Amino acid sequence: MGIPIDGKSHAKALREETTARLATARSASNDPAPTLAVVLVDPDDASEVYLRQKMSAARAIGIEVRVDRLAATIEPATFSAHLRSLSQDPGIDGVLLEMPLPHNLSREEALLAIGPDKDVDGLHPTNLGALLRGSPTILPATAAAVIQLLEREKVPLRGAHAVVIGRSAVVGVPTALLLLQRDATVEVCHSKTGDLAASLADADLIVAAAGVPNLVRGSMVCEGAVVIDVGMNRVGESLVGDVAYAEVLAKASKVTPVPGGVGPMTVACLLATVVELSLRRRSTGGDDPWHQPRS
Ligand code: NAD
Repeated sequence: MGIPIDGKSHAKALREETTARLATARSASNDPAPTLAVVLVDPDDASEVYLRQKMSAARAIGIEVRVDRLAATIEPATFSAHLRSLSQDPGIDGVLLEMPLPHNLSREEALLAIGPDKDVDGLHPTNLGALLRGSPTILPATAAAVIQLLEREKVPLRGAHAVVIGRSAVVGVPTALLLLQRDATVEVCHSKTGDLAASLADADLIVAAAGVPNLVRGSMVCEGAVVIDVGMNRVGESLVGDVAYAEVLAKASKVTPVPGGVGPMTVACLLATVVELSLRRRSTGGDDPWHQPRS
């Protein structure tokens, strides 16, 4: 029987470290609080709930939050211009664009309109390119959250056989790259993988990011594996992951629950990135926690 990984308490620890880092920097410099601009297009009730949670966590750290709610009817050119103006505003340290976007708006164009130095999501091609090169500066928050949880749980990564399920540019691929940079042997599975169970059979570490409820069953996981469930799927009124939690917990050594695993750590990583961007811009920051050159 394995143990749950407590994402909430690890996230709390990272938020406290971020709060302390910001307080120390500001006491030395008298700089204003970092400001995060959050852009929502045509928000629904669920996105407003997530936003309130993020805002209260941000303010507790000492980050100001400005929220721009835009109508679904906004023209693509006006939308890009809005993002560019936020990105060029010296009073804003980071721009967070909430997904999904309405069909008439291109995610790729939106990501280009937010400059790399304000790119809280770490998805601008410049930041993704740095990640690919092995010298990331700003990381996509969910991939960062997976690594934070593994490192805080002291899961050995060097030489481990890691299987990442999902190859999106937002989660799967950045997570696979970060594991590779930590010397894991990484296999990436996706919707066209022929035999997922065969790939998982001898995995030391599984990161499930497919968006398919209960995709990873207990029978697919080897004894003692570590399983990180990134999936967030609405099933009726419940939020469930990609992992059949009870079955997998019976075989694995550690598993993240949903909710309470990767989700809270993703928010904590996002807010750490806002602070990092602001300190970097004000040139008072020293260490770059994400920069870990590899041989
Ligand atoms: P996506 O739809 O862009 O990508 C899903 C990936 O899963 C694809 O690469 C696809 O090939 C693969 N896939 C789909 N079905 C599969 C199957 N049956 N077997 C193997 N692979 C399969 O989704 P995404 O944006 O990468 O998000 C993935 C999941 O993570 C979603 O549930 C999303 O809600 C969740 N998510 C959670 C957080 C968090 O903070 N916890 C953040 C972002 C995304």
